[in-house]
Amino acid sequence: MKKAAVIGAGFAGLAISYHLLSRGIAVDLFDQKGVGGGASGVASGLLHPYAGEQARRSYLADEAIEEAKILIALSQSFSVEPVADFSGVIRKATKEQSKMLLSHKEVYKDVEIIDESSFLITSGIAVHSKRYLQGLFKALQSKGLQWKIQKIVSVEELEEYDYYFLALGAGVFSFPGLEKFSLKPVKGQVLTCKWPVNIPPLEHSLIGKGYIVPVENGRVHLGSTYERGLMDEETDIEKALADLGPKAKVLVPGWEDIEVEGARAGVRVSHTGHYFPLTEKIGEKGWMLAAMGSRGLLYHGYASKILIESALGKEE
Ligand SMILES: Cc1cc2nc3c(=O)[nH]c(=O)nc-3n(C[C@H](O)[C@H](O)[C@H](O)COP(=O)(O)OP(=O)(O)OC[C@H]3O[C@@H](n4cnc5c(N)ncnc54)[C@H](O)[C@@H]3O)c2cc1C
Repeated sequence: MKKAAVIGAGFAGLAISYHLLSRGIAVDLFDQKGVGGGASGVASGLLHPYAGEQARRSYLADEAIEEAKILIALSQSFSVEPVADFSGVIRKATKEQSKMLLSHKEVYKDVEIIDESSFLITSGIAVHSKRYLQGLFKALQSKGLQWKIQKIVSVEELEEYDYYFLALGAGVFSFPGLEKFSLKPVKGQVLTCKWPVNIPPLEHSLIGKGYIVPVENGRVHLGSTYERGLMDEETDIEKALADLGPKAKVLVPGWEDIEVEGARAGVRVSHTGHYFPLTEKIGEKGWMLAAMGSRGLLYHGYASKILIESALGKEE
């Protein structure tokens, strides 16, 4: 039986492991911290095809959503609590964005009009990132995945394997040999806030400039900052609130005093030119999936599938 090492237990590494195990390849999964130790563990969980300033439909959105749904269903089958909410996501739109969303409504049929500046994206999913990762991890273990908490410092450590796959998230910036890729860090912070008692609870996640995701116990996640060039995972509530507070007040008129209870921070990786992740062969038996940007959930299933196809060939 062939054996692969996968480095990184975030959305990318778990999805790669899934495709390898499905092909009958034995997998050792390594992470220096634990499952969801990087950006995936702090992601707000929004998965929909209309991210970005112009609300254009993301590249290969249908294929990407289909692959993500397969993994979400697998994770759900190993989780008692719901790992995702499929009720859709509301997009608050400017005039230009409204025009764009109305054209998507005609073509893709996954947009419903709420009013002239609010649209329900029916294909939108709010994933509970931590539960999703845990459910998927358990599913992979049941398929034989071997788990190793260990930092890999160079590919020389992986010589015993037939294949290796790097899914390092922001770990790419310190891993030797990957300097030639033009990648950039973008720190993000999300605030956990108490939902105000005078405003009815949100039934769906809300996105516009910034976003609000309802979570348990009358709390919401308010996100996210885009702190370009920053690599640290320290939270700075004052700074995050200065950025996100005004955006929240536009999304929810009447939300005056924002009561912040906590914050979490992580580092996304983006690359120049396109938001589609980077799938690269990096050595005789090595491949890399990087630059998942802000669309990690949308693309993790699909990008890992095409990476495995380029490493092992298409399935018969
Ligand atoms: C605040 C915030 C909010 C976000 N919200 C959303 C959202 O709503 N929707 C969405 O789709 N995306 C969101 N994102 C983006 C999303 O989190 C990323 O696209 C995604 O998590 C990237 O996944 P990954 O597996 O590539 O990296 P990571 O999740 O960072 O995983 C990399 C893993 O590799 C491990 N590692 C690194 N180097 C080594 C090494 N040398 N040896 C061993 N292990 C190593 C790390 O410990 C880590 O666990 C958000 C990001 C942030 C920061």
